[in-house]
Amino acid sequence: MSDYGVTTRDQDFSQWYLDVIQKAELADYSPVRGCMVIRPNGYAIWEKVQAALDRMIKETGHRNAYFPLFIPESFLKKEAEHVEGFAPECAVVTHGGGAALEEPLMVRPTSETIMYHMYAKWIKSYRDLPLLLNQWANVVRWEMRTRLFLRTTEFLWQEGHTAHATAEEAEEETVKMLRVYESFAQDHMAVPVYIGKKTDAEKFKGAVRTYCIEAMMQDGKALQSGTSHNLGQNFSRPFEVRYQDQNQQWQYCWQTSWGVSTRLLGALIMAHSDDNGLVIPPRLAPTEVVVVPIWRSDEQKSAVMAYVNEIRGLLDGRFRLHIDDRDNFKPGWKYSEWELKGLPVRLEVGPKDLEKRGAMVVRRDNRQKESISIDGLVDGIRRVLDQMQADLFQKAFDFRTSRTRFLDSYEEFQSHMQADPGFVWAHWCGSAECEATVSEQTKATIRIVPFDESDGLETPGAPAPQAGKCILCGKNSPRHVLWAKSY
Ligand SMILES: [Zn+2]
Repeated sequence: MSDYGVTTRDQDFSQWYLDVIQKAELADYSPVRGCMVIRPNGYAIWEKVQAALDRMIKETGHRNAYFPLFIPESFLKKEAEHVEGFAPECAVVTHGGGAALEEPLMVRPTSETIMYHMYAKWIKSYRDLPLLLNQWANVVRWEMRTRLFLRTTEFLWQEGHTAHATAEEAEEETVKMLRVYESFAQDHMAVPVYIGKKTDAEKFKGAVRTYCIEAMMQDGKALQSGTSHNLGQNFSRPFEVRYQDQNQQWQYCWQTSWGVSTRLLGALIMAHSDDNGLVIPPRLAPTEVVVVPIWRSDEQKSAVMAYVNEIRGLLDGRFRLHIDDRDNFKPGWKYSEWELKGLPVRLEVGPKDLEKRGAMVVRRDNRQKESISIDGLVDGIRRVLDQMQADLFQKAFDFRTSRTRFLDSYEEFQSHMQADPGFVWAHWCGSAECEATVSEQTKATIRIVPFDESDGLETPGAPAPQAGKCILCGKNSPRHVLWAKSY
């Protein structure tokens, strides 16, 4: 247990995670099993995530819309793999208004089917393409084992759904959105991610190909943080999403879907936080700077508060700012509270700072202190925030490097996954049987198959393709794939 009442990461990582969420007041359990209440501190971070991503989604040409929560049961059954994948997780509404419904309604687990039913109505000609829509919504998947933010029965997300005239355009879109997620994770969340392909076993049910971003948490486990699917014509055929081409011929559309969810908050917590609580990367911090005034007497208080107001005037509008002038708490108590809640920068302002016309600037992540004069305060805080954002990424990147290995022996692979899980680059022959056996025996799964030349893009940080022998069966393997235990 740390001084802050948080279970340490070394003691029990999963209890640490829950302690951080509870102490930072991010979320709570609901009376409905498996569902989560997102508290204001957690929701404010989600709103920052939404704002940044929404801008990126719109900058790439998409528009937002909203589709119904309920989906007729028959819709889900139109795509064979899709229904097989999702039906067991669906909540089904059988009654409404006191009477049994003629057709049961599924609470959306994802919205491909209801959206494409509408797309079929709206798309008539090649002139209507591409259709590029996104929706911010909640979805429900009946989960047996839940964990706050990472896996909950109801969660919040965005789902983008597009329709295109050609297979090439759909592939381009799938990659484009994967890259959007990659840069959001790295530039905003300060979480390094590997991009790559999912194996058939791990791909979205109904997709031709699934691409994803995969991050490492501080316990060495992987967290799939976003996915982008090339759906080919798997949905456009059963839903008759068609267009007339320039020669008045009817053609089926090529489609994509892509999403990220409140799971990202789980990634943010597990990638950066420490035994003193939450650490929020500055770019996603609802409040960047908290000012804590320090006084011992009423006389000091009025002088310090006048000075704090001067500082407020300087910082207001430039930073997301909070002045903690509560009378009934001591400064030390406030420091620990704001550390637990993860605010990136704390300004301590007392009589000595007033005398020197400065302020003590304290960084949350490494607790570095620096006295900065009031003239240099705006630039100084900006510099500290930028440095913290960059350092968090670098620290997570270095951690990932330190917990990534190349392994050729299955025995070593097994003991490694048991003792000290991390990312492992190992050879795989490509067979679903080998993949299934390894995951059964070690609980590790293939997180990504790196992109190669035939995909027209690469996986930054992945080893160059190199032939070898499958870690399980010893047959030929064209390249290493990334294995890890995952959330
Ligand atoms: Zn094999």
